Amino acid sequence: MKFIRVAECYSKLEEISGRLEMIDILKRLFLEANPDEAEKIAYLTLGKIAPDYEGLELGLGEKLALRAISIASGISEQTISKEYKRIGDIGKLAEWAVGKRPSLFGKEELTLDRVFSSLLKIARATGSDSQDIKIRTFAGLLSDSEPIEARYIARIVMGRLRLGVQDMTLLDALAEAYLGSRERRSLLEEKYNIYPDIGRIARAVAEKKEKGLEEIDVTLGVPIRPMLAQRVKSAEEVIERIPKMYAEHKYDGERMQIHIWKDGRVKLFSRRLEDITAPYPDVRDALKTFVGRDMILDSETVAVNPDTGEILPFQELMHRRRKYGVEEAMEQYPAVTYVFDILYLDGKSLINLPLRERRKILESIVPKEGNIREVVYREIDSNLQELEAFFEEAVEKGMEGLVIKDPNSRYQAGTRGWNWIKLKRSYISKMIEPVDLVAVGAFMGRGKRAGTYGALLMAVYDPKEDKYKTVCKMGSGFTDEDLGRLPEIFKPYVTEVKDPSVESKIEADVWFQPKIVLEVIGDEITLSPVHTCGFNSIRKGSGLAIRFPRFTGRWRDDKGPEDATTEDEIIQMYKSQLKEIKEEKIKEEAA
Ligand code: ATP
Repeated sequence: MKFIRVAECYSKLEEISGRLEMIDILKRLFLEANPDEAEKIAYLTLGKIAPDYEGLELGLGEKLALRAISIASGISEQTISKEYKRIGDIGKLAEWAVGKRPSLFGKEELTLDRVFSSLLKIARATGSDSQDIKIRTFAGLLSDSEPIEARYIARIVMGRLRLGVQDMTLLDALAEAYLGSRERRSLLEEKYNIYPDIGRIARAVAEKKEKGLEEIDVTLGVPIRPMLAQRVKSAEEVIERIPKMYAEHKYDGERMQIHIWKDGRVKLFSRRLEDITAPYPDVRDALKTFVGRDMILDSETVAVNPDTGEILPFQELMHRRRKYGVEEAMEQYPAVTYVFDILYLDGKSLINLPLRERRKILESIVPKEGNIREVVYREIDSNLQELEAFFEEAVEKGMEGLVIKDPNSRYQAGTRGWNWIKLKRSYISKMIEPVDLVAVGAFMGRGKRAGTYGALLMAVYDPKEDKYKTVCKMGSGFTDEDLGRLPEIFKPYVTEVKDPSVESKIEADVWFQPKIVLEVIGDEITLSPVHTCGFNSIRKGSGLAIRFPRFTGRWRDDKGPEDATTEDEIIQMYKSQLKEIKEEKIKEEAA
């Protein structure tokens, strides 16, 4: 196929905006193409040369592109640069420059094949002379281009094609061209969701129609589009939609699709299907224990505090996405991966099995402990109270909430449906003021904190009953020096059993007399079934907790335990936080 035919088609697409018309134009183009060409048209029309997950980029900067246009047209770089500022569109610039080219002597007509293979050459050029190869190849294409061809080649090279054609429009056109009707797009879509390579789909259907599609299945190394969740506002609504459920912790980290080959190779893909293996060498190494079988897992990776095992907020994990310093980020914020699904095992796709069966397989492979571990979940059958308690417990542990799943559902790749429902904490509001809390117990540390305390159990004071009620476990904000000294500081106050003035549902490793007051800042106050502060005051069966508590560094030696923040103050803070959120919502809605 001549490239001019493709360029003319793109020019028509630019002029119209109606979807049906677009589909018709593309369909006719596909009908003139052989399967090999159909593949190339499919990529190019979306401004690509390969599926996104391959990460192949054309990588030609603006400066190099301008130089190539200058070479191909014989116009000085200076003039090209000036014209570019005036025209403002690299495609139109190339079209103009090529139009000014003096002689067309010796010009070869461009084919789609040549354009495509030149673009691949530009993308694949590496090494010291790669810039030179890129410029020469691009200039070579332009030298043989008609002006209108130059317009689209230049835009594709610069990643600025933007014809307004979406993936789904292209699938519609493929369905019309090869399956007889747009109604049959779902056949293509289903395959595209498990094999998101538009070129491969186009080639398969152009070659063998439905039969070609049958050959496409879940494949190791090709990321599946992730299944997503619908949102609801209340636990009641969850139960209405999925009475018998798996309620899973919703970790606030990075979605990670894990591909493991039996020979030990590993690839990690993000929610957007990018290859994110590089920033997670520790996850890759931890996955080595699974070697020996081919599999695809779906998971969420979070950053943890290496000393206490606490889950850290999402921002901490994002330090990993920097280009440099992965090693340091890895030490500072080690990752734990919570696996919640298995999609493929030893050559077989599992996505059509019910979740209950996939979970059984998963549980026979992924352990409940360690750096790669199974998601924490609970089977709940229409029990609202149990669901609410599990939700609060999850939020207090640093989760975003829960993802509720129907155990009978299949894995619907690329779909946001009602078989997965997310129930998130409904507000995010910063706790602005620090509070003064009394240490009533401690938990032994691990790793760097072995031999000292990993976290303290902190309480508020209730003057009415003269009791200390727990409100959080705190392991963050301590300097190394503070940490080392903790056992020594608390030694005079250690008791064999819990002090009678302390009300706690949590078992600490070491109990203290309530004496020492520390200043603490947190992110917000949440409902919690495990802390005794404000128990039953807001909701029956729940207390209040401080989420993501950190020591500010101030030992409040100037305060006795009775001077600590009171239970009532925390209840008031919770209520005003809610009020603030309501007001914010009203403001948002008004805006
Ligand atoms: P959100 O901002 O809520 O994460 P989203 O649009 O990114 O929204 P959703 O489908 O709405 O994605 O929420 C599901 C996301 O939650 C998943 O993409 C995944 O990254 C994360 N997640 C955490 N824990 C789980 C879990 N147990 N099961 C499924 N997804 C989970």
